[in-house]
Amino acid sequence: MKIICIGRNYIDHIKELHNTIPEKPVFFMKPETALLQINNPFFYPEFSNNVHYETEIVLKINHNGRHIERKFAHKYYDEISVGIDFTARDIQVEQKKKGLPWEIAKAFDQSAPVGYFLPKSTFADLSNIHFSLKINGELRQNGNTGDMMLDFDHIISYVSRFVSLKTGDLIFTGTPAGVGPIEINDFFEVFIEDMKLLEFNVK
Ligand code: MG
Repeated sequence: MKIICIGRNYIDHIKELHNTIPEKPVFFMKPETALLQINNPFFYPEFSNNVHYETEIVLKINHNGRHIERKFAHKYYDEISVGIDFTARDIQVEQKKKGLPWEIAKAFDQSAPVGYFLPKSTFADLSNIHFSLKINGELRQNGNTGDMMLDFDHIISYVSRFVSLKTGDLIFTGTPAGVGPIEINDFFEVFIEDMKLLEFNVK
């Protein structure tokens, strides 16, 4: 099982980090060991002083495929959830400056909390799903899948040109604006519409 993460998929987030709009989709991966078991605490890693949250819709791949055409991509997932793409922003900034890979900032243990999955049939329109993050009861991030540059089907089609998808793989679909630092003792609650699918503490 692997976790594939799309970068720079929401224009307002690209702007807040002063990145450029990519000519081609950006993706990177996290290993299975990045998964945080549901509702377990997240332990602040000792190697970073600036871990950021990024709240993202997550797709679960339901059968194997490669070179998936966009028109068939919807058949490759039936469940969605929310997750946090934890990022050691201080390390990522250094890696970007040097043109080095991002794994050290993105793929570390527990860097991918994921919530309970819902059937995608729960939603009338996958391109109009609202999701949000509260920290300590305060709304911190708010997104709508209608603002994605690449929609779910386009993501699956693009990624599967390079990397075969397998049953159980997860795809993080990018974060909207509002990313920010976390602190020890923060309490995370992550929602799709008004359904809380994930909660955990930072320790
Ligand atoms: Mg992200």
